[in-house]
Amino acid sequence: MEQTTVRDIVRATGGVLLAGDPGEPLENVSIDSRAMKGRDLFVPLIGEHSDAHDYLAQAIENGAVLVLSSRKMEPLPGAAWIQVDDTLKALQAVGRDYRNRMGIPVVGVTGSVGKTTTREMTATVLGAKFRVFKTSKNFNSDIGLPVTMTEMTKEDEIAVLEMGMSDFGEMEVLSSMARPSAAIITNIGVAHIEQLGTQENILREKLKITVGLENGGTLILNGDDAFLRTVDESIGFHRMFYGFGENCQYRAEDMVITGAGTEFTSVCGAKRVRVHLPVMGKHMVMNALAAMAAASIWGVSMEEAAEALEGFAGFRNRQQIYEVKDYRVIDDTYNASPDSMKAALGVLSGMETEGKKIAVLANMLELGEDSRRFHYEVGYYAKEIAPDVLICIGELAAEIGRGVSEAGGKNTVIKCFDTKEEALPFLKEQAGRGDLILFKGSNSMKLGELIDDLRDE
Ligand code: ATP
Ligand code: MG
Repeated sequence: MEQTTVRDIVRATGGVLLAGDPGEPLENVSIDSRAMKGRDLFVPLIGEHSDAHDYLAQAIENGAVLVLSSRKMEPLPGAAWIQVDDTLKALQAVGRDYRNRMGIPVVGVTGSVGKTTTREMTATVLGAKFRVFKTSKNFNSDIGLPVTMTEMTKEDEIAVLEMGMSDFGEMEVLSSMARPSAAIITNIGVAHIEQLGTQENILREKLKITVGLENGGTLILNGDDAFLRTVDESIGFHRMFYGFGENCQYRAEDMVITGAGTEFTSVCGAKRVRVHLPVMGKHMVMNALAAMAAASIWGVSMEEAAEALEGFAGFRNRQQIYEVKDYRVIDDTYNASPDSMKAALGVLSGMETEGKKIAVLANMLELGEDSRRFHYEVGYYAKEIAPDVLICIGELAAEIGRGVSEAGGKNTVIKCFDTKEEALPFLKEQAGRGDLILFKGSNSMKLGELIDDLRDE
């Protein structure tokens, strides 16, 4: 945070200053009393299982210069103190106020899958012309977004913010905080369908990103998505569609997957530019198109965008390709949903290798009561592109195996295990020189550890 004092926080939150000097400068916002960064405002959040008000003393000890509190209590010595009604709302008010004072344009990125990748690509492309601020890590929630927004600086010229929602009402809150000038929606999948019920609901909720979209702002929509395609002019904002479809303004043609990545021709009106993406797969082309479309609003030309994308290095555990011993690993262990699982299997199938192709797939979580069917369908879908060896980890992932085998496509060797520890010996036996091994599953399935185990052998 820059140019922020206790007084600004009192004004933004509408709270009451019970102790301390209003002129005291602040530099960081923290919600974890163990992780102070220096001259912190500490905001104690109340969770299901804990109440961070219990750690106010620890926060002060660790260097907080201002704390908020919704608990009625005597201010503790050592820091300024603001009494508020609701600490989460206060945190959001601080984020919103700071974002408004920084005053730079924001590109909001939401969608069921591909938000982080698209955010990173958009930041890369805008980086051709501007100093770009972007969400750190995966701070895309009603808590993470306001915290990340307080990290903007006066030097930043434009911000790319990731916005994730998992339930009704959340997007409105995120959008009114971020107030984007352009909003990208990558797709309407089935992530978080447990809470939201149907894809129609997911569409409706994601479109609430327009609540904070500024007048004259642009919606950048995946035109190949059956749900997003239905968004018409009644939405009241300028729309830009991207994709492979004929009707998309930002279109990809002539895609080829090579050993080094994915090439395609980006087409907009009469303009055509060949793009060499150093990452694999059609879904990456979609993310790149979204990034190019967004950056074009701020005058980044297609040539500049293509050049910037050549340097795109991907993002941790999201389809990163590296060598382990004498085989290659596609590390996609960060998370999984049916759409990203299909995309990853497509990548594995499209890549060249001297050896076998092996997929190690674990459960996809939070898919609600149709979970088994979603897993089965991924397997069924994969009948043409199935790997030589399929290792399923977990009861749900076993349904992927069943889908592949019942679809009756390729001659895939399918083995199912309950845990990754049980799968390790078989995997070791299979993995040989020149093989290509995909690892993918929900984050909590911890497949990254399996890669480590394989490496440490
Ligand atoms: P989260 O909700 O956890 O923040 P996210 O929306 O930010 O996820 P990413 O982290 O970018 O998504 O990617 C998640 C997974 O989806 C990765 O495996 C990635 O390779 C894959 N993926 C990325 N973009 C797409 C896309 N456009 N369509 C399908 N899958 C994608
Ligand atoms: Mg993300």
